[in-house]
Amino acid sequence: MTNYFSSTSKKQGSVLISGAKIVLTESGVARDCSLFVMDKKICDIGDRSTLLRRNGNPDTEIDASNCLVMPGFINNHSHMAMSLLRGYAEDLPLLRWLRERVWPVEATLKPSDIYLGAALSAAECLLSGTTCITSMYFYHESGNEAQAVFDSGLRGILAHGIFDWTAEDGLKKTVDFVKSWHGRDEGRIRIAVSPHAPYSCGPELLKRIEQLRTDLNSKFGHPYKVLSTIHVAEARNEQNEISERYKVETKKGVATYLRSLGVLTEDTIAAHCIHLTDEDFVAFKTTRASIASCPVSNLKVGMGVADLSRALREGIVVSLGTDGPASNNSLDMFETMKMASLLQKGIAGDTTLMGAYQAFKTATLGGAMSMHQEDLLGSISIGKLADIVVLDLSRDLRSTPLYDPYFYVVYAASSASVRDVLVDGRIIVRDRKILGLDLDRLRADVDARAAEIQQSSM
Ligand SMILES: [Zn+2]
Repeated sequence: MTNYFSSTSKKQGSVLISGAKIVLTESGVARDCSLFVMDKKICDIGDRSTLLRRNGNPDTEIDASNCLVMPGFINNHSHMAMSLLRGYAEDLPLLRWLRERVWPVEATLKPSDIYLGAALSAAECLLSGTTCITSMYFYHESGNEAQAVFDSGLRGILAHGIFDWTAEDGLKKTVDFVKSWHGRDEGRIRIAVSPHAPYSCGPELLKRIEQLRTDLNSKFGHPYKVLSTIHVAEARNEQNEISERYKVETKKGVATYLRSLGVLTEDTIAAHCIHLTDEDFVAFKTTRASIASCPVSNLKVGMGVADLSRALREGIVVSLGTDGPASNNSLDMFETMKMASLLQKGIAGDTTLMGAYQAFKTATLGGAMSMHQEDLLGSISIGKLADIVVLDLSRDLRSTPLYDPYFYVVYAASSASVRDVLVDGRIIVRDRKILGLDLDRLRADVDARAAEIQQSSM
């Protein structure tokens, strides 16, 4: 396997991000502010001279004057490898798209393709301000998403999706995946179990996967718990489909059904959650399971709009995701965050819903909360891991004028403003380039493979 990210695994010394025009810290907006990063963490916040006096000279200084510094986005639902199929087939009815186009070509993908697609996605994430991603695809020892995320320097929760028709192999691969990868690089890589969906996993399989998760956690769950991620209530007819296929009761809703099986827990990251019943909201509240909403993909695939305003009002943990690049077609969290907010306003005809600050929080801290790592991730605060994004305001006309930084970041900014990115205190992106990445070679390899895919599908 080609490691396109040759030098990102290098050790990083201390970093001073100095003189930022604006820093979005957990405790508020700070102006003309600097951050000192050491041993992976944000260890000091204040003015430059004070930080230098207290911490000495840094190994690297990043001049952030005329920049806005913010926590990196947490993209909480994706299928990274599928960037290889971005734009491969479009504008078909969903089932035809899946059955005639996506699934047949996926069956021909090799482990090296999974690594290649995930590497492209990792690069896109980093260059668009995402520092952590949750992704469900297929694990092969010889080529997988975890390896690409690890090599790129990104943080991630990766999972092997299990279906009825892959149950035994899927359970075995999940064990192998956890054993090989869970907790790597001091928890930068985590593995989750992943029943694909309640319409593709029967009730007994769902319970077996949850039991496996419990067993895995007893051996490998400290200090990083093995979580679970699953698609929930994405399609309009999902309730009926599950009930007919498995002869189970789903009248009260899909999430309620999952709860009755004991598989909806505080460790569940439930993607989509568009078609929820009143009982389903209760199920989320009482279990403390979290929602990973993917507004752009939901629109593109014609699935509908999740009621995030209600979920937030009821105290449910809400995070955002892009879903796979074949149904989005990007991993752009700026776009996702803005779309999430606008949809809540537009559908309800209420401009007060999902305001900029709340949308920003769902794209950052919401993900950290769903991972039970809000003490370490999701905001800029002393003691937290340095997963930081520097936006260059001077290159973005839309940052003029700048009355309120949250209004700017959510409603006007784009990934084009991302200049520098740190993950775990390491500088991964500097001046819009991923350090050590041969991006041209990566793109050429993806193009070559895409040409083969297109050729064989004719
Ligand atoms: Zn998905």
